[in-house]
Amino acid sequence: MEYRLLSYIIDENSPFYIGTTKPVIAPNKQISSGSSYNTYIITIENHCGTHVDAPAHFIPTGRRISDYNLEEFTFNHPLILDCPQDPGEIITVDDLSEVPMEGVDCLFLRTGFGKYREGDVDIYLSQNPGISPDAIGWLRKNFKSIRCLGMDSISISSFGNEKLGIKTHLAAFNADKGLGKPLLLVEDLKLDNISQKDAVKSIIILPWQIGLIDSAPCTVLAVL
Ligand SMILES: [Zn+2]
Repeated sequence: MEYRLLSYIIDENSPFYIGTTKPVIAPNKQISSGSSYNTYIITIENHCGTHVDAPAHFIPTGRRISDYNLEEFTFNHPLILDCPQDPGEIITVDDLSEVPMEGVDCLFLRTGFGKYREGDVDIYLSQNPGISPDAIGWLRKNFKSIRCLGMDSISISSFGNEKLGIKTHLAAFNADKGLGKPLLLVEDLKLDNISQKDAVKSIIILPWQIGLIDSAPCTVLAVL
């Protein structure tokens, strides 16, 4: 068994969604300053770095990330789907409709946009591909086994298309009857760490265990 990390490490250079807070990792008690031990104060918006959105992100009565149990973050029928996108493009039903997804519980869309995270962070942040609300509704209606959707983009909302982005999140989180359960959404995934040749047996998502917050930074493991 081999584990592959599909999440980024958070540091002070981590890209963050425009309009949110820059991460700060500040030394507090330091041996070099006469203390007998080292500590740090970490100031990070909960949607910074690879993170998992739960319904409470957009729906006040929705579940918070700390309401979920570990089984709900374990996926034994994952699919990592290549879905190449140009800057600013929106993934639609047409991009997904031919793909066999029967029984899939976790769908990660690899747009190839991860290359801009290092290469051109302005493009990564301001021209990221998104997903259409219709595509999410279609997935939830036709593949009720899907509990988690993720992509290698700073958000599933295309930046600069805020209205559509809100609809996209609501399409994932609403509790409409006739659809599968509200989805967990993973954003800023590191998917260039894995190829189609790798047989991914399962995906494990480990969000920070913090009370109150709607969503949380997370570690994502692929088990090969
Ligand atoms: Zn988020």
